Amino acid sequence: MTAVVELSHAVKEYPGGVRALDDVSLRIDRGELLAIVGPSGSGKSTLLNLMGTLDRPSAGTVAISGHDVARLSDRELSALRGRSIGFVFQQFHLSDGHTATENVATGLLYAGTPRRERKPLALAALAKVGLSHRADHRPHELSGGERQRVAIARALVNSPAVVLADEPTGALDTANGLAVLDLLNQLHASGTTIAIITHDREIAAQLPRRIEMRDGRLVNA
Ligand code: ADP
Repeated sequence: MTAVVELSHAVKEYPGGVRALDDVSLRIDRGELLAIVGPSGSGKSTLLNLMGTLDRPSAGTVAISGHDVARLSDRELSALRGRSIGFVFQQFHLSDGHTATENVATGLLYAGTPRRERKPLALAALAKVGLSHRADHRPHELSGGERQRVAIARALVNSPAVVLADEPTGALDTANGLAVLDLLNQLHASGTTIAIITHDREIAAQLPRRIEMRDGRLVNA
């Protein structure tokens, strides 16, 4: 079976000689839910940027659903990203001038979905995260936990091959953080592939697979 994400001996060097990723090989299969943990500066964001095709490796390869990112033009890479990857961020990144439905529908802008199909798909994604009753609310009318659920719906709306979540509970209190984690577990149970970056060991301990990073390397792949 083709891996959803496959890094092979990936290296990322930043100008000035910082080796943020050092010979990282990692395979994520369809349906997995995994945590990527490690202290600040260990390379988690760099790894996420490579997995999300937001950046390319300095050496080694990164493939998404079998497509080697090095072989794609910028345009092809954006198309692959729009089709295959859903992003969830610590700070939600919702647009305050738009309703929950409109925010979720923006997840379809780069996928070429016809306009008339966007709203029903957005409403279906909001239903998946239990927020049908908040569809017409704007972000400032929602709690932090609800905002993150809207952001998760936006990541899901396009049925991506993988959802990449960067500290998704980092801006939430404990109760809302647990609710978001429950939701991610439910989505996993219904077949969504999810990678969660976190420095929270308690969260990581609850997930079926953990990848630990230290100084740009995986310590237990
Ligand atoms: P984490 O997400 O685990 O905190 P990062 O991937 O952000 O770690 O950083 C890994 C290393 O790469 C750190 O030493 C950091 O200072 C360095 N780094 C990250 N981004 C850049 C950049 N754009 N330019 C130079 N160095 C960077």
